[in-house]
Amino acid sequence: MGEEPTLQEEFERLFSVFQISTKSVLQEAIGYIPSKKRGRHADIGEFVGKKRKITENSLSLSNIKKHFPKGIPDELAHLRPELLDQVMPVFDHKTNVTWDAIAGLEEAKEKIKECIVWPMLHPHLFRGVLTPSKGFLFFGPPGTGKTLIAKAIANECKAKFFNITASDLTSKMHGDTEKLVTTLFEVARHLQPSIIFIDEIDALLSKRTATEADSPMLRMKSEFLTQLEGVSSKDDRVYFIGATNKPQNIDEAARRRMHNRLFIPLPDASARRMIIEQEILEDKECNQNLSKEDLKWVVGNTKGFSGADMALLCKEAAYKPVRQMQLLGKLDNIKARPEFDAITLEHFKEALKTRKSSVSESDLEDLKKWNRLFGTISSK
Ligand code: ADP
Repeated sequence: MGEEPTLQEEFERLFSVFQISTKSVLQEAIGYIPSKKRGRHADIGEFVGKKRKITENSLSLSNIKKHFPKGIPDELAHLRPELLDQVMPVFDHKTNVTWDAIAGLEEAKEKIKECIVWPMLHPHLFRGVLTPSKGFLFFGPPGTGKTLIAKAIANECKAKFFNITASDLTSKMHGDTEKLVTTLFEVARHLQPSIIFIDEIDALLSKRTATEADSPMLRMKSEFLTQLEGVSSKDDRVYFIGATNKPQNIDEAARRRMHNRLFIPLPDASARRMIIEQEILEDKECNQNLSKEDLKWVVGNTKGFSGADMALLCKEAAYKPVRQMQLLGKLDNIKARPEFDAITLEHFKEALKTRKSSVSESDLEDLKKWNRLFGTISSK
């Protein structure tokens, strides 16, 4: 057990972390010091007086401040503020994703509602044999809606959404990654219900290599596995979702802890159609002249496209009339978007000359194969 740091030590650390330059900013920082330590302002004043030059403009306290306006709660006081600041949940408009915004993926959506949404909303019912598994792996080609689904879950369950990529975790804090992992899970527990969504999870939990022995990476992995285990064994409403397009690279121990492994496939024809509708037809300001037959043509010629490829194709097609008008010198006279020439099938045909599927056949085959071996839902 390490001894509790003295106030002086704590401030030394705060200074180096927040790089505070003025006393007034320090006063603000005091608000983020655990309340039980706040009484000793005299010591702080003395320390500030002694402190010499401190550089400006480093880390801000903004994330902590947003979530804990009255200062860090005592239960999280043992965590380092600079790590805490990095793992705070993201609240942005993108978390307002609803199920309707996700085209297709019916089987995955049903499974997720059953395994995450119902237990999260009615924890008193999902006990005993119905106790949910809380570790999930979403795998599939890039741009198929894995992140969208995670956001929709958080939205539906009014859960805090912790969204961090594996490269964020491994690059941000050299040597401190394992503590960052602990901090992440502790904060998620404190703010539950929570969804922890980690993209590119294969980079974090890849198969162990001999050269890794006792490296920071290995310690981080071990801590991650311990935390994952904890998520499943406790009554907390904290769910973990890892996303990857390379599930075959994931360590076996990690795979076992993510009990539900859901294949998120490429959109089928009706999902591709729905994405075109969302992107173009439902955009009230978008001038388009696309018949049902035209849509059918586009859908039929985009087999193998991911959801993200479809969205980019629509954008490309929508830009075509804008570019044409610009070439003709008409752009400056446009007052509002509906005045643009209408998007037609010809624009889609043009766009398709440059926009192709970003998913290779062989990658898709590998994913399907992995799904047959380890997946929780079937693939077509
Ligand atoms: P990933 O599977 O890589 O996490 P995302 O969920 O981030 O993919 O999707 C990227 C973008 O692609 C979305 O913002 C959306 O525009 C589009 N998209 C992908 N899949 C779908 C889908 N099933 N329904 C609607 N849009 C989708």
